[in-house]
Amino acid sequence: MADAAVKEKSVDANSAEAERELTDGFHLIIDALKLNGITTIYDVPGIPVSDFLRMAQAEGVRVISFRHEQNAGNAAAIAGFLTKKPGVCVTVSAPGFLNGLTALANATTNCFPMILISGSSEREIVDLQQGDYEEMDQLAIAKPLCKAAFRVLHAADIGIGVARAIRAAVSGRPGGVYLDLPAKLFGQVMDAEKGKKSLVKVIDAAPAQLPSQESIRRAIDVLKSAKRPLIILGKGAAYAQADDAIRNFVEKSGAPFLPMSMAKGLLPDTHPQCAGAARSTVLRDSDVVMLIGARLNWLLSHGKGKTWGEAPKKFIQIDIEPKEMDSNVEIAAPVVGDIGSCVSALLKEMGGNWPAPPAEWIKAVSSKREENIAKMAPRLMNNSVPMDFHGALGALRAVIKERPDAILVNEGANTLDLARGVIDMYQPRKRLDVGTWGVMGIGMGYAVGAAVETGKPVLAVEGDSAFGFSGMEVETICRYNLPVCVVVFNNNGIYRGTDVNPTGGSDVAPMVFVKDARYDKLMEAFGGFGVHVTTPDELKRAVNAAMDSGKPTLINAAIDPKAGSESGRIGNLNPQSALKKK
Ligand code: ADP
Ligand code: MG
Repeated sequence: MADAAVKEKSVDANSAEAERELTDGFHLIIDALKLNGITTIYDVPGIPVSDFLRMAQAEGVRVISFRHEQNAGNAAAIAGFLTKKPGVCVTVSAPGFLNGLTALANATTNCFPMILISGSSEREIVDLQQGDYEEMDQLAIAKPLCKAAFRVLHAADIGIGVARAIRAAVSGRPGGVYLDLPAKLFGQVMDAEKGKKSLVKVIDAAPAQLPSQESIRRAIDVLKSAKRPLIILGKGAAYAQADDAIRNFVEKSGAPFLPMSMAKGLLPDTHPQCAGAARSTVLRDSDVVMLIGARLNWLLSHGKGKTWGEAPKKFIQIDIEPKEMDSNVEIAAPVVGDIGSCVSALLKEMGGNWPAPPAEWIKAVSSKREENIAKMAPRLMNNSVPMDFHGALGALRAVIKERPDAILVNEGANTLDLARGVIDMYQPRKRLDVGTWGVMGIGMGYAVGAAVETGKPVLAVEGDSAFGFSGMEVETICRYNLPVCVVVFNNNGIYRGTDVNPTGGSDVAPMVFVKDARYDKLMEAFGGFGVHVTTPDELKRAVNAAMDSGKPTLINAAIDPKAGSESGRIGNLNPQSALKKK
């Protein structure tokens, strides 16, 4: 605090307070964040937050400036997922705020704790709509798109405002919080001692939420009754950092488990109980399904329909959010609480010996799994040129196997859908991808956030289209010299690079890009390494070299423009005209 305060000499020489310690909004915000263990800010500078960011850096906060607010926001969101502490993003007013808001809404949808702090224009002018610089009622706009939204008008309330934002972000179901700070607040001066006293250190920001014993008993009864049990692990389970308890529970149950994409690695994908390669079979044929931190949303076909088969099913669901229960189908055994507490209670209730699931079921799942793995193996080993997705991904799969603590960021259409299945993960919270919305544009933001928070090497596997949304952040990666290797799967377009304009006009088709573009040159422009590869062997060598060096690298991997399929695996969501000419 002392160094944050400024000294003001009284003009009145007779005053008893000849010299008094003062602080201001700038310093109080920084002190409030630091007091609560927030030591990194992701941002884009500008009016009215430039000086704030300078001062934050001067006071030892790590300040990571981006080229676009959406990417800064995505970095903060993934920091929240990885650390269970809210990631903080700071933006300028109106347009900067709106750019950051996309990331805040995405964080909220994915249940990642994050705080978006935006400077804003003066209330007096905004509320009378008199046309201020970047005038916008940001608080009102943010409110419906996040978990909570607050505005601080007085320096003396900064401590409480920051405390509320932190608690709202991480307690219960985590999510995004908006904190509106009008420009005038930053310069507001107050007595330093009073300022210090006004700060709040949040105690037990995300209190344990214990499940009722009755709900635990009910869940165990339903699980015990299963002939064909299945456990689905979602990214809530990964977020909870209850890795040992979850592993013990799954292993004790003996049930096949299916990881949702960001839960991969919670138990290794190569674990004998992993049913990732028998997904259709276990969803269709299971009779009791236990969801741990996973929602029955579109990613699980809402728990009904053809995917889930004809036979009746009972669901057990563990979630911190009571309203999640029965959102799509009836939940026979709701268990409401934090995953760590719930899984520990379940383990206790299971007692010493738990009967293994019927051997017939285990055998059915494992033989399907072996069959599918064997079918896939030769495709992953193909070294053909031009590369197809499988050949290229086979190479990356081998890299991650050798470097299980690297973090994999993944987005695209085919690049995403195929990588999810092909690249095995071995450790928790190592796979970061498009999440609940299936949104493109998270790539470089997540890559920077992951590298900054963990210090681990990051491999970002990007479709050429997906990469375009955040590609300018390669400059950010170079500027902070982060250990990020970006691989662009370049097939000349969206889904495929082969569409033609049916009119024969000079414009290219809407889904294609510049042919044979050299994304690797982008990285070179900022002093990083660029590599262009055309075969899986070259790709593997280049990625290994990049990961060994720890230097910013972009590998342009030329993929056969004919290789992709429309919308990857979710073509069914893409409306098509019945009148379309063949
Ligand atoms: P996935 O996409 O992997 O299926 P979702 O994001 O759909 O995962 O689901 C995550 C769920 O986990 C959310 O319903 C959220 O409320 C829940 N959740 C997040 N953190 C915790 C926690 N610590 N304890 C219990 N549930 C949690
Ligand atoms: Mg493409």
